[in-house]
Amino acid sequence: MTSSGVRPLPGRLVLLGHPVAHSLSPAFQNAALEQAGLPLRYEALDVPPAAFADVLRGIVAQRGAGNVTVPHKEEAARRCDLLLPAAERAGAVNTFWTDADGALVGDNTDIGGVGALARHVLGRAPANLRVALVGAGGSASAVLAAAERWPGCYVAVWSRTPERTRALVDRFAGVAHATRTLDDAVRDADLVVNATPVGLHGEDVPVDPLALKKGAAVMDLVYRRDALAIVTRGATPALKRAETPWVRRARERGHRAADGLVMLVEQGALAFERWFGVMPDRDAMWSAVR
Ligand code: NAP
Repeated sequence: MTSSGVRPLPGRLVLLGHPVAHSLSPAFQNAALEQAGLPLRYEALDVPPAAFADVLRGIVAQRGAGNVTVPHKEEAARRCDLLLPAAERAGAVNTFWTDADGALVGDNTDIGGVGALARHVLGRAPANLRVALVGAGGSASAVLAAAERWPGCYVAVWSRTPERTRALVDRFAGVAHATRTLDDAVRDADLVVNATPVGLHGEDVPVDPLALKKGAAVMDLVYRRDALAIVTRGATPALKRAETPWVRRARERGHRAADGLVMLVEQGALAFERWFGVMPDRDAMWSAVR
């Protein structure tokens, strides 16, 4: 740490993913870096799986830090010298840095992002809830790692591949159980979470809004990166970010609902804290996203 509290700057700050062209992370991370007066740029690197190990090694040699996204999070966890408990629990790394000894350290701030999104949609800290989780991949595992910290919450998990659902639920047996059908998972749920890509493109929804219990809250990890909708305020047409079809349709039926943008920005803000030891200006991040 320096006297200002800021850690020594990493040699490079990168996002490793495939694809990454549409990522919003460079926009909001660079806004936060600028606001903090840190002389560093956050670069998105498109790294196919076959090149991941070499690229990561090169970044570490430059004392680099950054984020990892689809499809590299599990591989990144396997390649770290040290995993912080959240990354160990999720079996996935989305945030890494090189420590003073040159060791690669991995953390998982998606879990904190899930918590922030849940608080946002519920308007309070999650507690005593029946949760339904659709999907059994990497982000579903972050949801279960978050739910382990929510008192009195139990998660019914359903995905289209029962073997994958069972493998996930076995890792989180204290908080999760598998259901045979989607309807069994959703019927009594107070909070329904989508952790599949359904809704990323097109108008499909992961759960029919008619199947939701009255008063259930809807949390979609998906967000639409590029979609803008024209809305009319008074006589003036304006551009507004389009939400996912599931969020839109659930809201129309009176449910509280939010897409994954809060999670995205919050995991990024928590990553910034890990890299630099200071909080980013979240307002600057949100302005860049909007
Ligand atoms: P993943 O590891 O590939 O898992 C995807 C899950 O969705 C699997 O259970 C998969 O089932 C299921 N699935 C895929 N296509 C489907 C379809 N057409 N219908 C029903 N189920 C389907 O992906 P992930 O990393 O968990 O990410 C899932 C989504 O979450 C991403 O697409 C992204 O939009 C969102 N996400 C958002 C954030 C954020 O910050 N907001 C962060 C991470 C992820 P199978 O096993 O049968 O293929």
